[in-house]
Amino acid sequence: MIDLRSDTFTKPTPLMLEAMFKASVGDDVFSEDPTINALENKVAQLFGMESALFCPSGTMTNQIAIKCHTEPGNEIICDKSSHVYVYEGGGIAFNSGCQVRTIDGIRGKISSKQIVDAINPEDIHKPITKLVSIENTSNRGGGSCYELEDLIDIKKVCTENQLNMHLDGARLWNAMVFKKYSPLEFGKIFDSISVCLSKGLGAPVGSLLVANSAFIKKARRVRKLMGGGMRQAGYLAAAGIYALDNHINRLEEDHIHAKKIGSVLAQKEFIGEIIPIETNIIIFEVKGNYTPQTFTEFLKLKNILCIPISSKHVRMVFHLDVTSNMIDEMITTIEKM
Ligand SMILES: *Cc1c(COP(=O)(O)O)cnc(C)c1O
Repeated sequence: MIDLRSDTFTKPTPLMLEAMFKASVGDDVFSEDPTINALENKVAQLFGMESALFCPSGTMTNQIAIKCHTEPGNEIICDKSSHVYVYEGGGIAFNSGCQVRTIDGIRGKISSKQIVDAINPEDIHKPITKLVSIENTSNRGGGSCYELEDLIDIKKVCTENQLNMHLDGARLWNAMVFKKYSPLEFGKIFDSISVCLSKGLGAPVGSLLVANSAFIKKARRVRKLMGGGMRQAGYLAAAGIYALDNHINRLEEDHIHAKKIGSVLAQKEFIGEIIPIETNIIIFEVKGNYTPQTFTEFLKLKNILCIPISSKHVRMVFHLDVTSNMIDEMITTIEKM
């Protein structure tokens, strides 16, 4: 099977499993798991920030961050297709009692100008605008990446208006590899950053929230109350450390694979618009003889899995369990369609 439904479908590699088996562990609720402590320090240092918190999922790191940045009744600004708004089960309302001001961005990216226009004035009728949440890469934007200058412009607006700035960096590693940016550059801009180990990096579980020490102290408390305090989870952290050391540079390969398949799809009359391919995600329109449903059903018969994400669009996500041979096989299949 060539599984392109998501980059979450990766399995740990033999060497990653070996690293997990060898991990020393302790009770992390008591901050006594040496491997988790090492992972948290490693990621905090990577971003040049004070502290980090290991959590079971990216949904949890995002939701904890939003909770720690806001008070009930506040408003959060984000793009209309943001994971925090669309794919986290209404968590912003449930966990933080906040509402969302969505912005009609371009491929998931919002501009400083749009943010300025969305900030509420001081007026007792209106919710207090408190937080801007940025997604990089943007999932629904087809893996699109922000330019650093644009983020710096947004930071300026946030500083001028006393807004906090959160980064949903589930696939930030892909953005950094594609744009050749360093994590330190993101650490300087954002008040909090969430990164996932369980997507393109191939770890089985885990995300980290990175911020200053006071923020992470508060976040640790919220993690516990959400039921996210884990015990000997150092086995999972070991997979994360292994992934950070070995699986970042190879993301380039996934990007090359995505572009290859994209150019083959572009030749087909039943493929409409393809969102410009930057990283490991392809989102494209299916038309003519196929619908997204029949297109994915056909590919399934050829052992290729992908998902329709709307009545017109299909998504494919490339990752470390997709080999160059599989890509060649796919190209042959698509060319025959
Ligand atoms: C996957 C993802 C997350 C986190 O998802 P979990 O499955 O909860 O780890 C957050 N943001 C984006 C953009 C994602 O794609």
